[in-house]
Amino acid sequence: MNEETTTPNRRDFLKNAAALAGITVAPGILLYSVSQAKPADQSVTSEQRWGMLIDVTQCTSGCDECVKACTVEHGLTEATRPEIAAHWIRKVGLRDKQTGQEYSLPVLCQHCEHPPCADVCPTGASFKRADGIVLVDKHICIGCRYCMMACPYKARSFIHETLENQKPYSPRGKGTVESCNFCVHRVDKGKNPACVEACQQAGHEAMIFGDLNDPYSKISEKLKIVKSTALRADMRLNPGVRYQGL
Ligand code: SF4
Repeated sequence: MNEETTTPNRRDFLKNAAALAGITVAPGILLYSVSQAKPADQSVTSEQRWGMLIDVTQCTSGCDECVKACTVEHGLTEATRPEIAAHWIRKVGLRDKQTGQEYSLPVLCQHCEHPPCADVCPTGASFKRADGIVLVDKHICIGCRYCMMACPYKARSFIHETLENQKPYSPRGKGTVESCNFCVHRVDKGKNPACVEACQQAGHEAMIFGDLNDPYSKISEKLKIVKSTALRADMRLNPGVRYQGL
């Protein structure tokens, strides 16, 4: 995908935002701006990279609020068989063989910087947006499922059945592949993905979403002070999703 250029207006906006980011409101106290979504009439650029930090120590095994919120947000209706159900986000249980420690963590598309799903897609339907969000263009996905085989996180699913009551902002289609899109329709309006919002509303605060390129965003500030890891970091895909407490 071609990266879109930054318009002068966009540059001014970012410059002003950057200036705001470090205003001193009192000696030693900085007022940090929150990460801003782009204005609706301006292009997505690589000056932002959206990411998510998941604190597994705050994520309880009995809770699936994030999964439920995703299901509602994207209209992921029940499939006739569980093995063909859509799973944009799923809870996975892990057990450390050495310590016996058990973890329960949400796994979703990791929004890789170097997405193998996009590399193998023969039509360009799988692509990474300039701001790091990995998407599927439903109009040109031919349902070959190469991307599902290439994804090391098993983050994608294929739509086998006819769909009803679709959400206009989250198009799906029988015979195409899909995966978490970071709720791009919400992100572009300056909102958090539905899973993050649900986790916060449930009082767990296990998920933080924000701009990894903004040193003052909540997620960047947290990543400066906690140890985090990427799933299968050995594959060097540099995912946008990081985990804390693993
Ligand atoms: S996690 Fe899978 S679907 Fe998401 S960008 Fe990486 S390879 Fe593609």
